[in-house]
Amino acid sequence: MSALEGTVALITGASSGIGAATARALADEGAAVALIARRIDRLHTLASEITAAGGRAAAIVADITDRAQAEAAVARTVGEFGRLDILVNNAGVMLVGPIEQAPIDEWDRMIDLNLTAALSMTKAALPHLLASAADDPRRVADIVNLSSTAGRQVKRGSAVYNLTKHGLGAFSESFRQEFSARYVRMALVEPGAVDTELRDHIRDGVREGNIDRMRTLDPLQADDIAEAVRYIVTRPRRQTINELLIRPTLQN
Ligand code: NDP
Repeated sequence: MSALEGTVALITGASSGIGAATARALADEGAAVALIARRIDRLHTLASEITAAGGRAAAIVADITDRAQAEAAVARTVGEFGRLDILVNNAGVMLVGPIEQAPIDEWDRMIDLNLTAALSMTKAALPHLLASAADDPRRVADIVNLSSTAGRQVKRGSAVYNLTKHGLGAFSESFRQEFSARYVRMALVEPGAVDTELRDHIRDGVREGNIDRMRTLDPLQADDIAEAVRYIVTRPRRQTINELLIRPTLQN
């Protein structure tokens, strides 16, 4: 039997990159997966692929920066599959560049998605994870938060992205201390450069150099991070992987 058979996982930002790869990995491990993002066509394509491979998937469109939509996405997941065992807070934006020239709405967008949306999803999912942890000792009840090397290492030109990822790390550690005794596990994954669409949203004039730098690093692939998430959520319940920092070998 696959390790996640009978479990339900919700993955935010499942329409591309690390989220899509994680959805495939968890479905391959037997989880039913709720795929959350705004681009519904991408979610439908991925859901069809997972279903065709024998898995269970639901495409749920939501802008999770809107708290009502975040809560509705959790409710629809539980409505569709009857429970929720794993939340992967993956959706994020990285709108880096110098503070002085930064359009302030870029800061809002990072805080709204990287922090506030992750908090909304966590709060909405929590009662279901607690129920899952309480009702069967063999079940997983996991939250995996996608942070970054930017959550550990502050760099000039990355101030608000650094702020959001450091904040996510602080929240995760406090959450861990509060809920570990009830077997709800919290893990933080901190990738270095991964070759995804993340950098496409950086503003003109900053984006090009960032992409060039990423390419010189022989970057990680989305599947590399998905395998880390798979590893985390398939550990026996006596064991928690609190933090995984994964860099391309060439990245300092
Ligand atoms: P992508 O840009 O490929 O994926 C981002 C995902 O977030 C997309 O699926 C997007 O879907 C979704 N998203 C964006 N806005 C919203 C919203 N308002 N509501 C719901 N979903 C939303 O980037 P990655 O896969 O690289 O990033 C995933 C995570 O990994 C992020 O948290 C990022 O910070 C982190 N990370 C990435 C690294 C990298 O180098 N790539 C390195 C370290 C960490 P849609 O547009 O359809 O809504």
